[in-house]
Amino acid sequence: MRSSRWIGAHVSAAGGIENAPINAKAIGANAFALFTKNQRRWQAAPLAQESIEKFKENCKEANIASSAILPHDSYLINLGHPDNLQLEKSRTAFFDEMQRCEQMGLSLLNFHPGSHLRKLPIDDCLSRISQSINMALERSSNVTAVIENTAGQGSNLGHSFEQLAQIIDGVEDRSRVGICIDTCHMFAAGYDLSSTEACRESFKLFDHIVGYQYLRAMHLNDSKTPLNSRVDRHESLGLGHIGKEAFSFIMNLEATKNIPMVLETINSDIWQDEINWLRSLTHNN
Ligand SMILES: [Zn+2]
Ligand SMILES: [Zn+2]
Repeated sequence: MRSSRWIGAHVSAAGGIENAPINAKAIGANAFALFTKNQRRWQAAPLAQESIEKFKENCKEANIASSAILPHDSYLINLGHPDNLQLEKSRTAFFDEMQRCEQMGLSLLNFHPGSHLRKLPIDDCLSRISQSINMALERSSNVTAVIENTAGQGSNLGHSFEQLAQIIDGVEDRSRVGICIDTCHMFAAGYDLSSTEACRESFKLFDHIVGYQYLRAMHLNDSKTPLNSRVDRHESLGLGHIGKEAFSFIMNLEATKNIPMVLETINSDIWQDEINWLRSLTHNN
């Protein structure tokens, strides 16, 4: 039987979403992330039925459950945008992303919370983000909105556990909101992960302030920049300022069972090795 840890990478969907599970299988993954459209454009053609069918077939073929798949939304979307027209545009695009997930039979949608662009008080921006999530959840039924913690670069919010908790607090249907912890972002935002002891403390804080019941996914990345740098630069596992111990800690956390854990590390040539190494770290299933 396969490990209860679902590990993969953010794979390419070039040529169509149906290629993503093929790319995941090729690196020995039993989880993956993908963009369901070009992440740097607003518009996208609707998904073709044929593409969706092939995507599902290929997932089955690769033995990857839909709950182990973590689509990532477009980088253009800002659910806390200070300008009402731009906010509307983001909300429309976010709902479109959610619909694409539903069409593909997926249950999670990973996104960056939003930025105040120095034009809005933090609390107002956080409540706009919660409101944006509410609007998308109201109009959909099966997808959970999975908020990714950020490095806190520029005016990006969601870098502190308090901010993540505040966003969740403003969501009406808490059964369909969750968190994706990106280890690089967490470290760059000031939560130390450079030793087992530091990890224990940092994750205890997460559980205390947000709660493990909201942990729905992880992005496993090392960091090129030091603790609290507030700069988002991913590195291959073990080669950055986080180092190896953190990943051993994470791979043995009860809370990381049966959630997608996805590499966004910079060298895709070694993804398979990184996945194998991660699998070897789990002691008792
Ligand atoms: Zn992300
Ligand atoms: Zn990430």
